[in-house]
Amino acid sequence: MANNDNKTDVVVLGAGIVGVSAAYAARVRGLSVVVVDRREPGNETSYGNAGVLSSGSIFPLNQPSLFGNLPKYLGNRHAALRWNPGWVLRHPDWVARFLASARASQTRPRALALQGLINASLRLHRDWIVRAGAPERIRETGWLKAWRSDNFAAAKADQDALTAYGIKSELLDRQAISALEPNILPVYSVGLLHTQTASVDSPGNVVKAYARMLSGSGGEVRRAEIKSIAPDGDGWRVVLSDGELRASHVVVALGPWSADLLRPLGYRVPLATERGYHREYKPNASRKLLHPIHDAENAFLMTPMENGIRVTSGVELTDREAPSNFAQIDAVEPLARSVVEFGEQVGDTWRGARPTLPDSLPMIGAAPRHRNLWLAFGNQHIGFTTGPATGEAIAAMISGAPPPFDVTAFAPGRYI
Ligand SMILES: Cc1cc2nc3c(=O)[nH]c(=O)nc-3n(C[C@H](O)[C@H](O)[C@H](O)COP(=O)(O)OP(=O)(O)OC[C@H]3O[C@@H](n4cnc5c(N)ncnc54)[C@H](O)[C@@H]3O)c2cc1C
Repeated sequence: MANNDNKTDVVVLGAGIVGVSAAYAARVRGLSVVVVDRREPGNETSYGNAGVLSSGSIFPLNQPSLFGNLPKYLGNRHAALRWNPGWVLRHPDWVARFLASARASQTRPRALALQGLINASLRLHRDWIVRAGAPERIRETGWLKAWRSDNFAAAKADQDALTAYGIKSELLDRQAISALEPNILPVYSVGLLHTQTASVDSPGNVVKAYARMLSGSGGEVRRAEIKSIAPDGDGWRVVLSDGELRASHVVVALGPWSADLLRPLGYRVPLATERGYHREYKPNASRKLLHPIHDAENAFLMTPMENGIRVTSGVELTDREAPSNFAQIDAVEPLARSVVEFGEQVGDTWRGARPTLPDSLPMIGAAPRHRNLWLAFGNQHIGFTTGPATGEAIAAMISGAPPPFDVTAFAPGRYI
């Protein structure tokens, strides 16, 4: 499908949650759309995440509490964060800017910006998942953060921080945790249930359902390696492994790979990859896990998924393509087994990378030095949650309409 100049209105690069969402939102606005990916939609980062649609993840990792935790991380043995000294030495700018963003003065503006993005996105997920014919994949059970130690103060501090932004949660003691999750062992003393948070039973299949909805509405999903993009008159030429596309607008939604394609255009994007791993285990039918659980002290998540219990690990700060290091996921497996009984591992250990800019805010908007080039990436730990509204905002801007939330803080020009 192309317009009068034999150009597609919008070519979206990348069919993760962000790219598929941008393509669908553009199609809903009546634009002709092709989304391109070398893999099936939703087979990379948007496949392997913990599937939490989090209303409360408005405070990024780089917030003031990070400074208190740094001594714990320096030994490089903590489950929450492993860092490659070579990577840190080669990226001092990123590290310095990441730490500078953790200052107290930076908390509220970023939290408000992320809250606008998250709220708009949760509304879209809840609508689209029904439209896509996959409503059974979303569970409105909330998300439990839990402490093994009797750290009521930490749970209360989390709750107060959320309440200050109007986000609801419930404090739970050991008994209330058992009532909520009757099949887990009584390892947790205190819990905080994020009641407005949902989750899905297969993030990859949700993206595939959205991609089918896109095809059903006349959009095209194309499988090809994207080699390069180049300005072409008012629009763009997209060079693929098996041909070329001409587009009026190009959207870069390549997740952790987004910076690569922009470099030849003169943009040096400070995009780091916070890698993470998952393993899935055969559930015990009589010991069903009912909610995603975040083990606060041991920095892992457990989510009941379609194919088993998915355990995801903390952050590994290193090069995107560095060889896998299973130390973090190995360390949390026995801790996960101490919470709920489950069987052997199903499938291979998965590795992915959270795409993160130094201020932990995504880039959502126009590239500063090229017309009709749109950037939609850097959604860090909450990209599965925030993909739909990221895409919707880009589609709105392409159409000259106001985005559904304030995008000022996400302007690409802050870094490039
Ligand atoms: C362990 C872990 C747990 C997480 N848990 C959660 C969670 O619970 N909730 C949440 O909201 N978020 C979570 N996230 C974050 C979330 O998964 C990501 O932010 C999000 O999936 C990013 O989506 P994306 O569309 O930007 O990238 P991707 O899904 O990676 O999509 C980018 C696409 O670009 C394609 N591509 C790249 N280069 C090329 C090329 N040259 N040619 C063709 N195609 C190309 C890739 O194949 C890929 O499909 C988690 C992340 C990790 C790693």
